[in-house]
Formats: sequence, C-alpha cells, structure tokens
Amino acid sequence: MVKNYTDLLKCDQECLWHPYTSMTTPLPSYLVEDADGVYLHLATGEKIIDGMSSWWSVVHGYNNAFINDAMKAQIDKFSHVMFGGLTHEPAVKLANTLIDITPVGLDKVFLADSGSVAVEVSIKMALQYQHSLGKADKNKLLTIKNGYHGDTFAAMSVCDPVNGMHSLFSGFISENYFADAPSIGFDDDWVDSAANSAIKSLKQQFKDNHQHIAALILEPIVQGAGGMRFYHPQYLRACRALCDQYEILLIADEIATGFGRSGKLFACEHANISPDILCLGKALTGGYLSLAATLCTTKVATTISKGEAGVFMHGPTFMGNPLACATANASLELLFKNDWQAQVRAIEQQLKTELLPIKQHKNIADVRVLGAIAVIEAKYKVNMAIIQQKFVEMGVWIRPFGKLIYIMPPFVISTAELKTLTQALANIVDCDEVFNKI
Ligand code: PMP
Repeated sequence: MVKNYTDLLKCDQECLWHPYTSMTTPLPSYLVEDADGVYLHLATGEKIIDGMSSWWSVVHGYNNAFINDAMKAQIDKFSHVMFGGLTHEPAVKLANTLIDITPVGLDKVFLADSGSVAVEVSIKMALQYQHSLGKADKNKLLTIKNGYHGDTFAAMSVCDPVNGMHSLFSGFISENYFADAPSIGFDDDWVDSAANSAIKSLKQQFKDNHQHIAALILEPIVQGAGGMRFYHPQYLRACRALCDQYEILLIADEIATGFGRSGKLFACEHANISPDILCLGKALTGGYLSLAATLCTTKVATTISKGEAGVFMHGPTFMGNPLACATANASLELLFKNDWQAQVRAIEQQLKTELLPIKQHKNIADVRVLGAIAVIEAKYKVNMAIIQQKFVEMGVWIRPFGKLIYIMPPFVISTAELKTLTQALANIVDCDEVFNKI
C-alpha cells in the first residue's frame, strides 16, 4: 500500500513507464498534488509555473471553473455512449464549431481519441480517397524532414527518419518519401535564390514520385517536436500549389499549432491556404481530456464514400466521447470569450522583448519566437536531470529536449508570471553545468 510521496515516487519508478524513459535508469519525476491557473503544486511544497501548458494543451490553465462546470454537467447526464448508431448534442455542437472556425472547405469531422490517432485517420482517409479514385498505386506519403506526427506506426512513418529512429523498426515501419526540411525561416526574405533552394528537394520528390504519393503531410509553419523551427508561409503556399498540380492531397497536422498558439487561430492562416485534411488535438479540450479531430473536405468524404468500401474504415470505441466533446465545447467558448488573439499577441510581445537579447549569449545558437511559443536553441545538449531540478528551484516547469529549451505557456498567464518564466530562461543559459559541452 502506497503511503506518502516518497513511496509514491518509488512505486512510480518501479512500475510506470513515462514518455521516452528508461525503466532501468529513469529520469526523476516530480509528484503533482494539485494544479490551478498556471501553477502546478508539487508534493514537496513548491508551487511552479507551467511553461509547457502540459505539452501545448492547457491553454486556459488548470482547474478552470468554467470548464470544470461544463464537465460536471455532462458527467451528470452521461459520460460516454458508443458512437455507432448513436449521437449526442456535444458531438454535433463541436463538429459545427470546428467547421465554422477552421480554414474554408473543411466540412466533415471525424472525432478521434488522441493526436496520433487523428494522424492515423488522416492517412487512412488519403489512402482510401486515392483507392476510391482507382489510384491504388498512390499508397505512399510525402513529408518533410524534421517533422513529428505522433508515436503510432503510420504516424511514426512520417516523423523524421533520424529523430524518429526508423532504423529501430525497419522491416515493419512503412517507407515513405522525405523532402529536405524547409530551410527558409518565418521572417526570412522570400527571394528567388533562397526560395529555390528551400523548395528544390520538395519539387524533385513531387516530380519523381507523384504516381505513388497519396498525400503530402506536414506541420504547417511550426515544426514542433522535430526541432521547433518556424518556416516561411510562402513555402506552405508552394506546397499547396504542388499538391494541386500533381493531384495529391495536403494533410495539415495542426495538433500542436491549432487554436491560436502560433498567433493565428490555425497556422495555415499564415499562408492563407486550406488543406484537404486537417488534424487537431491537444488544446482542443483545453488540455482537460484526450480528444482529437480529423476534418476533411466534402470532396474527400464523398469520394471515400463512393469507393469500394462504401464507408470510411475507422471507428474507435471512445469515438466522439460526450464528456470530451462537452469539454472541448467549453474550452472553445472560453477561447473566444477570453480574446485569445489579444492574449497571444501580448505573450508574443513580451517573449520577444525579454528573450531575443539572449541570442547573443555564448552558450546559445538561436532564439525564436512566434505567437505564444519561444525557443532557445543552445549550442550544446542539456543535461535533463540537472536542468529540470534547477528550473523547479527557480519556480518554473520547463522541459527541454536535446539542445532545445522552449516554452509555450498557458494563454491566461499574467505579465508577472511570464516574467518569472523568461527570467528563469535568462538565468539558465548562464549555468554552464546544465550543458553537456563535451
Ligand atoms: N502531431 C503533432 C504535430 C504533435 O505535436 C503531436 C504530439 N506532440 C502529435 C501529432 C501526437 O499527438 P498525441 O501525443 O496526442 O498522440
């Protein structure tokens, strides 16, 4: 029987897998007892500011009364019913809202249970679409290097082959086509020479392999877990144009960027394009429950429905979970009530003012800010155990990976709370001991 927090942590280490963690030499975990607003309350007594929004999701902060009330109201009605043959108001309302707010043309909604599953669904849609058109040979995907789309197998097959360790799963993981990552940054000049080199490899892939490509899948504007890079909107426009030219579907994975994070409600809006298929997740429920959605055009949906199967071949047990849908409806209502645009604009301004000067630091290679995302790219990999402990001592929760120390705070963060986060970042770059310099 587990008694206190040291017992809990011991038991945790002995029997629980954590994300990307060894079972024999696990990194330490911190025990959360409570959370509210932007604060995590640790069992050891510290109250720390969450700079990660629990991996892009908790945009309204923890324990929000409006979302809690909506969840309780739904629990008191029903938490779950199967979606086969049954439907309910929370799902219908959510589908309507998503169709209204997402880029034009995305009219059909598939509700999935997590981001990775939404990506699986998008890939399956693309393959069934091409199959229905009699193009069964178009059964591969094109993507760009440094991408990240989730941890299930089809999603992994379009993650960066090196970062995603494809070699570990060779023989099982599907082989797809990879163009070079866009080399042109969000604010760079889109001059011909730079544009040509950024787009060259992509054009070549389309030219050489279009007969076999069902869809181009990418994260619009922000390449997240694969490197935290922001690329030029014109590149995304070029992707759209190439997809149209070669009759290949465009899948936009906005699981991380969706719902305001990049400064636009959806990152596709930076380039003023609509994808054929769109994946959403993470902040969809304000980070309260796992829910994701894959939207597609009427053309994709009707083509699939007229194909050999006559149906779309997917239907998970918890599809359209009413509690998760009601939570998403409350979170989306709050997003607009809170004026997300003003919140994100203020965060972006403060991040730029307080963090861009760090670019000159001897340990730092680059600092990038877009919307409510700030990335400090160090010259060296960080020592996770040391840096994590130092951040906790400074009263913040920031979880770097590799050379990347980054934050994407909840939209409700105050100026003073955000200052605590940026100050912690400014302090950490001075700590030589957090960097593995050899
Ligand atoms: N796509 C992107 C762009 C992501 O950032 C993530 C999660 N980090 C996923 C897909 C997978 O989502 P989930 O972790 O909910 O399966």
